[in-house]
Amino acid sequence: MIPFLNLKDINAQYSNELKTAIGKVIDSGWYVLGQEVEAFEREFAKYCGVKHCIGVSNGLDALKLILKAYGYGPGDEIIVPSNTYIATILAISEVGAIPVLVEPDISTFNIDSSLVEEKISEDTKAILAVHLYGQSANIGILREIANRYQLKLIEDAAQAHGAVYNGKKTGNLGDAAGFSFYPGKNLGALGDAGAVTTNDDDLAKKIRAYRNYGSDKKYENLHKGYNHRLDEIQAAVLRVKLNYLEQENENRRKIAKMYLKMIQNDRIILPNAPKNQKEHVWHVFVLRTKDREQFQKYLTSHGIQTVIHYPIPVHKQAAYCEWNYINFPISEQLHDEVISIPISPVQSIKDTKRIIEVINSYEL
Ligand SMILES: *Cc1c(COP(=O)(O)O)cnc(C)c1O
Repeated sequence: MIPFLNLKDINAQYSNELKTAIGKVIDSGWYVLGQEVEAFEREFAKYCGVKHCIGVSNGLDALKLILKAYGYGPGDEIIVPSNTYIATILAISEVGAIPVLVEPDISTFNIDSSLVEEKISEDTKAILAVHLYGQSANIGILREIANRYQLKLIEDAAQAHGAVYNGKKTGNLGDAAGFSFYPGKNLGALGDAGAVTTNDDDLAKKIRAYRNYGSDKKYENLHKGYNHRLDEIQAAVLRVKLNYLEQENENRRKIAKMYLKMIQNDRIILPNAPKNQKEHVWHVFVLRTKDREQFQKYLTSHGIQTVIHYPIPVHKQAAYCEWNYINFPISEQLHDEVISIPISPVQSIKDTKRIIEVINSYEL
């Protein structure tokens, strides 16, 4: 079987370095919010080109902390793509704000920036853009709209570590960004982890307090905060893996390039590659097909593991049954047609060629 994502092999490359880094934390006697977290925050901020990075517990909490620190709550509307992973929406509903869903552009899968303006109301506070599947959202236009209506522009960068838009990396494209370092992301820890990046000094200060019980100083509480702290072990792991992120993203681009050039089958629609290759870090490689179920079975029977990102759109989830009456035809079409084929920084050329060959021989 060619696995969808061989995490074990990815981490095995750095096994010795990771064990040394983890061993150092064990021996240090300090396990939550310490030197490793501080060092990772400095290094990741530098990597993204931003002033501040605040290490937190996971990607959902990173987004939630941004919304909370901006003071959003009941009655506030946040514009967000209807085609995203559920965590983006959960962050908004968790602070009590209202997610206002906007359909994606069918060719990029990202929020259709031409549909954003008509969704802006008196209560709109921010646009929460997602760099879905590893590709930067249409930040130029979104920034311009956000400025015109005095909205914050927030990035969900959980799938796009290292993607570059107009010379700047994700994490530095809006007013604040949330990252996830869940093991399967392009920069993955060995457990849950996340971060907020921002150039906003006040916001950074607030989030530092909010992640740690709302406390600036031990036993003094400025805010009704949370426990959304980052562990030293995960920070130490991330410091090792950050050194290899550029190379890993480059490996992903090479595989994507082969797929884009060599997959040729009338039944399969390939994803659009951005003109500027750096805009995409290919977190996943998503094909579309009208007969997905059959195509997936075919690939499985030929030893190729696939995943659907995602089978049920957020507005059709039981958790958001209040939206069940709304139609988002493009999102629904995508959720019926998408299928992600294997891509990872350690996937061999041989496996990539095999996948291409199998897909090219597919017929109904
Ligand atoms: C993974 C992911 C998140 C959530 O990150 P966790 O660390 O799993 O909480 C948020 N948004 C998107 C787009 C994601 O892919």
